Amino acid sequence: MNNPFIPRLVYFEPKALDYPLGEQLYKKFKKMGIEIRYTTSHNQVRNLPGENDFQKYRVAKSTLVVGIRKTLKFDTSKPSAEYAIPFATGCMGHCHYCYLQTTMGSKPYIRTYVNVDEILDTADKYIAERAPEITRFEAACTSDIVGIDHLTHTLKRAIEHFGQSEYGKLRFVTKFHHVDHLLDANHNGKTRFRFSINADYIIKNFEPGTSSLDQRIEAAGKVARAGYPLGFIVAPIYLHDGWQKGYFQMFEHLDAELPLDARDDITFEFIQHRFTKPAKRVIEKNYPMTKLELDEEKRRYKWGKYGIGKYIYQKEQEEDIKSHLYSYMEKFFPNAKLEYFT
Ligand code: SF4
Repeated sequence: MNNPFIPRLVYFEPKALDYPLGEQLYKKFKKMGIEIRYTTSHNQVRNLPGENDFQKYRVAKSTLVVGIRKTLKFDTSKPSAEYAIPFATGCMGHCHYCYLQTTMGSKPYIRTYVNVDEILDTADKYIAERAPEITRFEAACTSDIVGIDHLTHTLKRAIEHFGQSEYGKLRFVTKFHHVDHLLDANHNGKTRFRFSINADYIIKNFEPGTSSLDQRIEAAGKVARAGYPLGFIVAPIYLHDGWQKGYFQMFEHLDAELPLDARDDITFEFIQHRFTKPAKRVIEKNYPMTKLELDEEKRRYKWGKYGIGKYIYQKEQEEDIKSHLYSYMEKFFPNAKLEYFT
């Protein structure tokens, strides 16, 4: 994906226009000639164009709903942060294994919330409750926030807000390279900017509608040069022909791009591919042609919360993945911190 996301259809909830960001977005989309509709609530977003579920799903993924975040109680977001901070939900990407497919169910459209000040005020209250302990907020639990931020600049505001915070920190992860407007944000080192990366083969086959590996790595270089603490989530680690080489090249490429002075504060998170039975059903419905291997027989079953277990790689395969990825990380980034492997 070269161009930043532009919605095909935009809905406004009535109160959204009372907020400066709502008004600004309204003018922007009007000027761009994008079809605008009104809805009393995002739940009323019906009659999306499309003849069947397959088409409607695709239209929904390019539909933006501009609204208000009513629930200002933040979810927890362990282990990587204390809370999830809700600026947006949904994503325009089409990663076959995206967790949003099961969590967003029948509402895959993208929502952006314009009451940003209220959301940030709430974050400050959570921070005050825990101070002087640090409170971390994850901004990418329910969306790929970077992917829409060129339109809203909400993330930029949040980065600058946390930049001034004594005990609050922000983090997020993205598969998009549209980071230029975030480079001059006054982050003060309080935001950890993470990229989700993978072997080239996997991004090409399973992550349509997102940025290429080259684009993400180039963007990571820019982010590092802008002084942000950097992180990489390698996920999902997926076995395929030549996977060792694919992951080695990914690290080699990172090594060639990242400036030397950014390497002492880099984190890695490794997540092997997994699926649940409900996720498999949704993937096969939304991406019927996928080449993704989802064979329960080949996997190891791991009991999960609420009785929904997941299928992960066999123990030996898992060890093989670990030993290769750890050795690449240590070779190219000896000072990086491995947060977890799961
Ligand atoms: Fe899902 Fe992330 Fe892909 Fe968007 S970029 S579809 S949030 S996995």
